[in-house]
Amino acid sequence: MSTDQPLVRLRGVGKSFGSARVLTGIDLDVRRGEVVVVIGPSGSGKSTLCRCVNRLETADEGSIEIEGRPLPAEGADLARLRADVGMVFQSFNLFAHKTVRDNVMLGPVRVRGLSRADARKRAEELLERVGVGAHGDKYPAQLSGGQQQRVAIARALAMEPRVLLFDEPTSALDPEMIHEVLDVMTALAAEGMTMIVVTHEMGFARKAADRVVFMAEGRIAESAAPEDFFGSPQTERARDFLARVL
Ligand code: ADP
Ligand code: MG
Repeated sequence: MSTDQPLVRLRGVGKSFGSARVLTGIDLDVRRGEVVVVIGPSGSGKSTLCRCVNRLETADEGSIEIEGRPLPAEGADLARLRADVGMVFQSFNLFAHKTVRDNVMLGPVRVRGLSRADARKRAEELLERVGVGAHGDKYPAQLSGGQQQRVAIARALAMEPRVLLFDEPTSALDPEMIHEVLDVMTALAAEGMTMIVVTHEMGFARKAADRVVFMAEGRIAESAAPEDFFGSPQTERARDFLARVL
């Protein structure tokens, strides 16, 4: 495999729900270690784009490759894809009836085939790393939203993903908890994790993004380094959007 091959490669990706076209002609390369922040108005297709990349939705046009391999259609290959392409959702999606530690151990045991002892060790390390090391025995509902989201990040990391997708990971959080989640994400970015991050946190985009992708009406309207995008957006749509969020 050549080293300049993108980790994630989308070409001409399109998606419709019934007669509603949601994504059109999406071309996107994400290199190893790159942090791509996706922004854009509500309904512009950001979530659908993420969901197509880890195959929660099926793109109906174009191609999506991870490390040069097309997304698998189903079966064991799909479970492995979901392990390679981690996702962190706005709503945490932790298993409510399992402890924090078990939430983090489950995937590695079931999908990666780790022993329970190894999975437990990895879970403890990761919970420590995201700052919730003391809460492994608790259930998700006993934690704050910010803590739950950090557990969700630890759970995704436990699978040793090639790339992590974040879909508005701080949108459901009280303001005082947003930073503790963004700090974990910033640290991951600095450590070289490949990340696609949908967010309205423009401070994070400026600081952590290698590239900002601006979506409008299901298309990529702009793709630029953060200083260029925020300094001189090229489209009217992006200028309007920034005027509203900044
Ligand atoms: P964003 O994340 O940018 O807000 P989404 O990807 O969630 O945008 O949605 C893009 C468009 O697709 C919206 O018009 C939304 O209503 C529609 N959409 C998303 N998911 C579905 C679905 N499962 N069925 C029908 N329409 C959907
Ligand atoms: Mg969304």
